[in-house]
Amino acid sequence: MANLGKLYIVATPIGNLEDISSRLTRILNEVSLILCEDSRVSIKLLNHLGIKKPTLSYHQHSPVSRTREILARLQEGEDLALVTDAGTPGISDPGNRLINELLAREPELVVVPVPGPCAAITALSVSGFPTDCFLFLGFVPHKNGRHKFLHSVAESERTVVFYESGHRIKKTLAQLGEIVGEERKICLAREITKKFETIYRGSTVHLLELVDDRRKFTVVVSPKNN
Ligand code: SAM
Repeated sequence: MANLGKLYIVATPIGNLEDISSRLTRILNEVSLILCEDSRVSIKLLNHLGIKKPTLSYHQHSPVSRTREILARLQEGEDLALVTDAGTPGISDPGNRLINELLAREPELVVVPVPGPCAAITALSVSGFPTDCFLFLGFVPHKNGRHKFLHSVAESERTVVFYESGHRIKKTLAQLGEIVGEERKICLAREITKKFETIYRGSTVHLLELVDDRRKFTVVVSPKNN
Protein backbone atom coordinates (compact mmCIF):
# COMPACT_ATOMS: atom_id res chain seq x y z
CA MET A 1 0.00 0.00 0.00
CA ALA A 2 1.29 3.50 -0.88
CA ASN A 3 2.33 5.91 1.87
CA LEU A 4 -0.49 8.17 2.89
CA GLY A 5 -0.35 11.57 1.16
CA LYS A 6 -0.52 14.82 3.08
CA LEU A 7 -3.37 17.29 3.15
CA TYR A 8 -2.22 20.93 3.05
CA ILE A 9 -4.66 23.52 4.41
CA VAL A 10 -3.70 26.60 2.44
CA ALA A 11 -4.80 30.11 3.42
CA THR A 12 -5.40 32.44 0.46
CA PRO A 13 -5.77 36.24 0.23
CA ILE A 14 -8.94 37.90 1.52
CA GLY A 15 -8.87 40.43 -1.29
CA ASN A 16 -5.28 41.45 -2.00
CA LEU A 17 -3.16 39.23 -4.20
CA GLU A 18 0.00 40.81 -2.75
CA ASP A 19 -0.71 38.71 0.35
CA ILE A 20 0.17 35.54 -1.56
CA SER A 21 3.10 33.86 0.16
CA SER A 22 5.91 32.05 -1.59
CA ARG A 23 5.05 28.94 0.43
CA LEU A 24 1.44 29.03 -0.81
CA THR A 25 2.74 29.19 -4.37
CA ARG A 26 5.17 26.32 -3.85
CA ILE A 27 2.63 24.05 -2.18
CA LEU A 28 -0.04 24.66 -4.83
CA ASN A 29 2.56 23.90 -7.48
CA GLU A 30 3.64 20.67 -5.80
CA VAL A 31 0.34 18.97 -4.96
CA SER A 32 -1.43 16.81 -7.51
CA LEU A 33 -4.94 18.10 -6.85
CA ILE A 34 -6.42 21.29 -5.37
CA LEU A 35 -9.67 21.02 -3.44
CA CYS A 36 -11.68 24.24 -3.83
CA GLU A 37 -14.81 25.56 -2.16
CA ASP A 38 -15.82 27.17 -5.48
CA SER A 39 -13.49 26.45 -8.37
CA ARG A 40 -14.74 29.56 -10.24
CA VAL A 41 -13.30 31.66 -7.39
CA SER A 42 -10.07 29.72 -6.93
CA ILE A 43 -9.32 29.52 -10.65
CA LYS A 44 -8.67 33.29 -10.61
CA LEU A 45 -5.95 32.78 -8.00
CA LEU A 46 -4.49 29.82 -9.90
CA ASN A 47 -4.49 31.78 -13.16
CA HIS A 48 -2.75 34.67 -11.41
CA LEU A 49 -0.05 32.23 -10.25
CA GLY A 50 0.12 30.50 -13.63
CA ILE A 51 -0.73 27.17 -11.98
CA LYS A 52 -2.52 24.61 -14.12
CA LYS A 53 -3.65 21.85 -11.78
CA PRO A 54 -6.75 19.73 -11.59
CA THR A 55 -9.29 21.00 -9.06
CA LEU A 56 -12.09 19.22 -7.24
CA SER A 57 -14.91 21.01 -5.46
CA TYR A 58 -15.52 20.54 -1.78
CA HIS A 59 -18.22 22.76 -0.25
CA GLN A 60 -20.79 22.68 2.52
CA HIS A 61 -23.22 20.60 0.46
CA SER A 62 -20.69 18.04 -0.78
CA PRO A 63 -21.91 14.47 -0.26
CA VAL A 64 -20.00 11.91 1.83
CA SER A 65 -18.97 10.23 -1.45
CA ARG A 66 -16.78 13.29 -2.14
CA THR A 67 -14.94 12.77 1.15
CA ARG A 68 -14.39 9.09 0.21
CA GLU A 69 -13.04 10.14 -3.17
CA ILE A 70 -10.61 12.58 -1.53
CA LEU A 71 -9.53 9.96 1.01
CA ALA A 72 -8.91 7.42 -1.75
CA ARG A 73 -6.54 9.86 -3.45
CA LEU A 74 -4.66 10.48 -0.21
CA GLN A 75 -4.44 6.71 0.32
CA GLU A 76 -2.91 6.41 -3.15
CA GLY A 77 -0.10 8.58 -1.79
CA GLU A 78 -1.14 11.84 -3.46
CA ASP A 79 -0.53 15.13 -1.65
CA LEU A 80 -3.58 17.42 -1.84
CA ALA A 81 -4.23 21.06 -0.98
CA LEU A 82 -7.45 22.55 0.31
CA VAL A 83 -8.29 26.19 -0.40
CA THR A 84 -11.55 27.99 0.28
CA ASP A 85 -12.91 31.15 -1.38
CA ALA A 86 -10.81 33.47 0.77
CA GLY A 87 -8.78 33.35 3.95
CA THR A 88 -7.92 30.43 6.18
CA PRO A 89 -9.82 27.22 5.40
CA GLY A 90 -11.76 25.89 8.35
CA ILE A 91 -12.60 29.27 9.85
CA SER A 92 -16.36 29.65 9.27
CA ASP A 93 -16.16 27.75 6.00
CA PRO A 94 -16.41 24.06 5.01
CA GLY A 95 -12.73 23.25 5.58
CA ASN A 96 -13.06 21.98 9.13
CA ARG A 97 -15.81 19.51 8.16
CA LEU A 98 -13.56 17.89 5.57
CA ILE A 99 -10.64 17.59 8.00
CA ASN A 100 -12.91 16.10 10.66
CA GLU A 101 -14.41 13.55 8.26
CA LEU A 102 -11.01 12.52 6.89
CA LEU A 103 -9.45 12.13 10.34
CA ALA A 104 -12.41 10.03 11.49
CA ARG A 105 -11.61 7.58 8.67
CA GLU A 106 -7.81 7.94 8.65
CA PRO A 107 -6.48 9.08 12.05
CA GLU A 108 -2.87 8.90 10.81
CA LEU A 109 -3.50 11.53 8.13
CA VAL A 110 -0.99 14.38 8.31
CA VAL A 111 -2.78 17.73 7.96
CA VAL A 112 -0.33 20.55 7.30
CA PRO A 113 -1.30 24.21 7.92
CA VAL A 114 -0.03 26.76 5.41
CA PRO A 115 -0.98 29.94 7.28
CA GLY A 116 -1.98 33.26 5.79
CA PRO A 117 -4.77 35.84 5.94
CA CYS A 118 -7.82 35.40 8.12
CA ALA A 119 -10.46 38.15 8.26
CA ALA A 120 -11.21 37.64 11.97
CA ILE A 121 -7.58 37.83 13.10
CA THR A 122 -6.78 40.70 10.74
CA ALA A 123 -9.72 42.75 12.06
CA LEU A 124 -8.76 41.96 15.66
CA SER A 125 -5.20 43.08 15.00
CA VAL A 126 -6.29 46.64 14.18
CA SER A 127 -9.10 46.90 16.75
CA GLY A 128 -6.97 48.03 19.68
CA PHE A 129 -9.24 45.98 21.97
CA PRO A 130 -7.83 43.32 24.34
CA THR A 131 -6.78 40.26 22.35
CA ASP A 132 -5.08 38.06 24.94
CA CYS A 133 -8.44 36.36 25.30
CA PHE A 134 -11.25 36.80 22.77
CA LEU A 135 -14.45 35.15 21.61
CA PHE A 136 -14.93 34.30 17.94
CA LEU A 137 -18.57 33.62 17.04
CA GLY A 138 -18.52 33.10 13.27
CA PHE A 139 -21.59 34.33 11.38
CA VAL A 140 -24.62 35.95 13.00
CA PRO A 141 -27.53 33.49 12.62
CA HIS A 142 -30.19 34.76 10.17
CA LYS A 143 -33.22 33.64 12.15
CA ASN A 144 -33.10 31.06 14.94
CA GLY A 145 -30.63 31.95 17.65
CA ARG A 146 -30.12 35.52 16.45
CA HIS A 147 -31.39 37.11 19.65
CA LYS A 148 -29.33 34.76 21.83
CA PHE A 149 -26.26 35.44 19.67
CA LEU A 150 -26.53 39.22 20.07
CA HIS A 151 -27.10 38.87 23.81
CA SER A 152 -23.98 36.74 24.14
CA VAL A 153 -22.04 39.51 22.34
CA ALA A 154 -23.52 42.07 24.73
CA GLU A 155 -22.71 40.02 27.82
CA SER A 156 -19.17 39.07 26.82
CA GLU A 157 -16.37 40.23 29.09
CA ARG A 158 -13.99 39.39 26.27
CA THR A 159 -13.50 41.08 22.92
CA VAL A 160 -15.92 39.47 20.44
CA VAL A 161 -15.32 38.97 16.72
CA PHE A 162 -17.96 37.90 14.23
CA TYR A 163 -18.71 37.91 10.52
CA GLU A 164 -21.62 39.63 8.83
CA SER A 165 -22.60 40.10 5.21
CA GLY A 166 -23.13 43.54 3.70
CA HIS A 167 -26.85 43.21 3.21
CA ARG A 168 -27.47 42.45 6.90
CA ILE A 169 -24.85 44.66 8.57
CA LYS A 170 -27.22 47.55 9.25
CA LYS A 171 -29.89 45.33 10.75
CA THR A 172 -27.31 43.62 12.96
CA LEU A 173 -25.77 46.89 14.14
CA ALA A 174 -29.23 48.29 14.90
CA GLN A 175 -30.27 45.22 16.89
CA LEU A 176 -26.95 45.07 18.71
CA GLY A 177 -27.30 48.77 19.54
CA GLU A 178 -30.70 48.17 21.11
CA ILE A 179 -29.06 45.69 23.49
CA VAL A 180 -25.69 47.32 24.24
CA GLY A 181 -26.62 50.99 23.94
CA GLU A 182 -24.17 53.68 22.80
CA GLU A 183 -21.37 52.99 25.25
CA ARG A 184 -19.85 49.92 23.70
CA LYS A 185 -16.98 50.48 21.25
CA ILE A 186 -17.11 48.70 17.90
CA CYS A 187 -14.44 48.26 15.25
CA LEU A 188 -16.00 47.46 11.91
CA ALA A 189 -13.56 46.20 9.29
CA ARG A 190 -14.91 46.52 5.77
CA GLU A 191 -13.20 45.07 2.69
CA ILE A 192 -9.95 44.38 4.57
CA THR A 193 -6.86 44.43 2.30
CA LYS A 194 -8.96 45.57 -0.70
CA LYS A 195 -8.99 48.88 -2.55
CA PHE A 196 -11.90 50.28 -0.53
CA GLU A 197 -10.75 48.95 2.85
CA THR A 198 -12.30 51.01 5.65
CA ILE A 199 -11.92 50.55 9.38
CA TYR A 200 -14.87 52.23 11.11
CA ARG A 201 -14.68 52.89 14.85
CA GLY A 202 -17.39 54.04 17.24
CA SER A 203 -20.71 53.11 18.80
CA THR A 204 -23.37 51.18 16.90
CA VAL A 205 -25.32 54.45 16.48
CA HIS A 206 -22.32 56.22 14.99
CA LEU A 207 -21.49 53.33 12.68
CA LEU A 208 -25.08 53.05 11.47
CA GLU A 209 -24.74 56.55 10.06
CA LEU A 210 -21.61 55.61 8.14
CA VAL A 211 -22.24 52.12 6.84
CA ASP A 212 -24.37 51.68 3.78
CA ASP A 213 -23.27 49.05 1.36
CA ARG A 214 -23.15 45.40 0.45
CA ARG A 215 -19.48 44.66 1.05
CA LYS A 216 -17.81 42.17 3.38
CA PHE A 217 -17.62 43.03 7.05
CA THR A 218 -15.90 41.69 10.12
CA VAL A 219 -17.19 43.11 13.39
CA VAL A 220 -15.09 43.45 16.55
CA VAL A 221 -16.86 44.46 19.76
CA SER A 222 -15.00 45.66 22.84
CA PRO A 223 -15.55 43.72 26.08
CA LYS A 224 -18.33 44.66 28.47
CA ASN A 225 -17.07 47.06 31.14
CA ASN A 226 -13.89 47.81 29.17
N1 SAM B 1 -12.16 31.50 6.29
C1 SAM B 1 -12.29 32.92 6.05
C2 SAM B 1 -11.17 33.68 6.78
O1 SAM B 1 -10.25 33.05 7.28
O2 SAM B 1 -11.20 34.90 6.76
C3 SAM B 1 -13.66 33.41 6.43
C4 SAM B 1 -14.74 32.78 5.60
S1 SAM B 1 -16.33 33.36 5.89
C5 SAM B 1 -17.21 32.25 4.81
C6 SAM B 1 -16.45 34.85 4.95
C7 SAM B 1 -16.74 36.07 5.81
O3 SAM B 1 -15.50 36.59 6.33
C8 SAM B 1 -17.35 37.23 5.05
O4 SAM B 1 -18.76 37.12 4.93
C9 SAM B 1 -16.97 38.43 5.89
O5 SAM B 1 -17.83 38.57 7.01
C10 SAM B 1 -15.57 37.99 6.36
N2 SAM B 1 -14.57 38.51 5.41
C11 SAM B 1 -13.95 37.82 4.42
N3 SAM B 1 -13.13 38.64 3.73
C12 SAM B 1 -13.23 39.86 4.30
C13 SAM B 1 -12.65 41.13 4.03
N4 SAM B 1 -11.78 41.29 3.01
N5 SAM B 1 -12.98 42.16 4.82
C14 SAM B 1 -13.84 42.02 5.85
N6 SAM B 1 -14.43 40.86 6.16
C15 SAM B 1 -14.14 39.78 5.39
